[in-house]
Amino acid sequence: MTMPIKLISTDFDGTLYAESEHPPVPPELQQLLGDLQRAGAVWVINTGRDLSSVLEGVARARLSVWPDYLVTVEREIHRREGNSYVPVHPWNVLCADSHRELFARIEPDVPRLVEWVNGRFSASIYRDPWSPFCVVAESNADMDAIQNRLSAYSGGVPGLSVMRNDVYARFCHASYNKGTALAEIARLAQATPEQTLAAGDHMNDLPMLSTHVAGRLVAPDNAVAAVKETVRRQNGYVSHQPWGHGVARGLEHHLGLTPG
Ligand SMILES: [Mg+2]
Repeated sequence: MTMPIKLISTDFDGTLYAESEHPPVPPELQQLLGDLQRAGAVWVINTGRDLSSVLEGVARARLSVWPDYLVTVEREIHRREGNSYVPVHPWNVLCADSHRELFARIEPDVPRLVEWVNGRFSASIYRDPWSPFCVVAESNADMDAIQNRLSAYSGGVPGLSVMRNDVYARFCHASYNKGTALAEIARLAQATPEQTLAAGDHMNDLPMLSTHVAGRLVAPDNAVAAVKETVRRQNGYVSHQPWGHGVARGLEHHLGLTPG
């Protein structure tokens, strides 16, 4: 029998993992992911967190299963080798080079953007190793307005894109996101879009929630409206259950299992 799903990509916060839940990743979902891995499927945690932060989250969740790949900061790929995760080349090197070149080009404009945000909103602005301009707004409404301004700016800069997750946003290269990283892992794992499932809950998941990358889509009940709409429009599964419970229902749906 051919397995219908060969590659599974789950966002971490709000999709796989719920801080408020005990345990944060439902045991039934861990069981399902483990069964699929034993049957030959490849599982990816595809997150905006950096490597140390996602590994901390995985440890905190005391998972009984370990992902085969981690996508971190929505762009870098790490493959599991034994008990550790190693960078995937040449992807990560090309990714770092592209960002270095892009960020050098926009550096002169950063002070003007900082001034624009500071003049209108009470928001935290900083730079980190991943972007010369990161912003945390006080509300999603503030971030909507800030995102509009950043998108208008990025529209005039070839290769520049805005990565948004809730009240947080940063700049990134348009060629690197959860979707392109998942497509690269699909190439390495020799999985077609029809054999690929993606599950997510927020704006930064939209690039992987596309049938060009993953033919089988899942959104839990807590997903934002734009994500639910995107998943529904492409014939995906929107669960009435939140977080990992919703992902478990989505996996059952796409595997043709009757939900219990
Ligand atoms: Mg999320």
